[in-house]
Amino acid sequence: MNLAIIGTGYVGLVAGTCFAESGNDVICVDIDDQKIATLRSGRLPIYEPGLEELVRRNTEEQRLSFTTDLKAAVLRSSVVFIAIGTPQAADGKANIDQVLATARSIAEVMNDYKIIVNKSTVPVGTAEQIRAVVASTTRHPFAVIANPEFLKEGAAVEDFMKPDRVVLGGEEPEAIEVLKELYEPFVRTGNPILVMDTRSAEMSKYAANALLAAKVSLINEIANLSEKVGADVSEVRRAIGLDRRIGPHFIFPGVGYGGSCFPKDLRATIAMGEPELEMTLLQAVEQVNERQKGLLVKKVKRHFGPDLSGRTFGVWGLAFKPRTSDMRDAPSITIIESILNAGARVQAYDPEAMEEARKIFGDRIRYCRRNYDVLKGADALLIVTEWNEFRRPNFQLIKELLKDPVIFDGRNIYDPPELRKLGFIYYSIGRKDD
Ligand code: NAD
Repeated sequence: MNLAIIGTGYVGLVAGTCFAESGNDVICVDIDDQKIATLRSGRLPIYEPGLEELVRRNTEEQRLSFTTDLKAAVLRSSVVFIAIGTPQAADGKANIDQVLATARSIAEVMNDYKIIVNKSTVPVGTAEQIRAVVASTTRHPFAVIANPEFLKEGAAVEDFMKPDRVVLGGEEPEAIEVLKELYEPFVRTGNPILVMDTRSAEMSKYAANALLAAKVSLINEIANLSEKVGADVSEVRRAIGLDRRIGPHFIFPGVGYGGSCFPKDLRATIAMGEPELEMTLLQAVEQVNERQKGLLVKKVKRHFGPDLSGRTFGVWGLAFKPRTSDMRDAPSITIIESILNAGARVQAYDPEAMEEARKIFGDRIRYCRRNYDVLKGADALLIVTEWNEFRRPNFQLIKELLKDPVIFDGRNIYDPPELRKLGFIYYSIGRKDD
């Protein structure tokens, strides 16, 4: 099948590459000509495990190409995906201007029947708006499908190749059949393709993210309470995770959720209810998360006092989660900004997000080439993102390099008794602090 993907970001690039990998002819479009130039030169603008090799193989096989020319891409494609960003507007709602503008651009150039598939996360009712925009712009026949994307950064290729489910919202049976055929290679193990109306499909994406964000805030609140009453949240997590109604996933306490999806999607969900329906629980989820992002620095100030001037802190992990270079709404931003505001210096390391971090912090922090370099002359180490390479470090070396052996672990990756035995003062989340 000939496919066009408009918007070559995390979702568009992964979806386009995976569709090419299953034998389709895919052309990815973006307005960012630098991004397209980067991709054409064989480099990737983002880090995503496994993606680079897939992009290389499929461009070499000439099933995958990149362009800024939307018209050429649409003309040669029977299915056109929209995977444009839907950032948060000033009022909290999702801004769908670019999605609708893209729908109009597609309609302006299309020359025969096209299936327009929206993958962007959009407020309920957007598919109908897309349909109206296209209908008012072209006389050619078309179908509109809502196909929310559930991949997670850090495992995006795997998620796309083996989705738990595919959701298709739409009223045109022929178009649904085409999309089912397209997704069939990814659901060979029997995971379902769910067909529903466009509004339910759009709602499903927001509902999933709301529930996941709520899980994070809930376990963080339980962690804070555990700490207060002398329980250990790691034990509590194991005990509750074995209950099949709860499950072991996504109940790890930490420094709060971030990223390009949960914060903005939660606000968009709250905004969808306004003004008649107050989303009380989701507002609380947000509040808990904001508070949680301040927790690590609160512990730092409890240890060192409120004035941190003259001190230096080493930070391991900047990306909003491991295995991604994405810094959008990362808790590290809040943490580092408050350390800087309290007068201290920061030296940081992340395996993949250094370039993105530079765009945010400029020369206000020091960037280290190796994880151990952040420790030189530092008063303490802060662990913000749980990259695998931080899990079994050389503790002896950490102790030698730090001024004092103090670790603030925002991800609970070490065992408190073990760290104490090694001579560290160790602070973590929801467990007994030193
Ligand atoms: P992104 O910012 O990484 O990519 C969006 C791309 O669209 C950018 O490359 C941008 O240059 C391009 N673009 C913007 N306007 C354009 C236009 N008019 N024409 C062509 N290209 C244009 O965003 P993303 O993370 O891929 O997210 C895309 C959508 O998918 C969002 O709605 C997001 O909420 C949703 N989503 C994201 C994820 C994720 O993990 N990142 C997961 C599921 C769903």
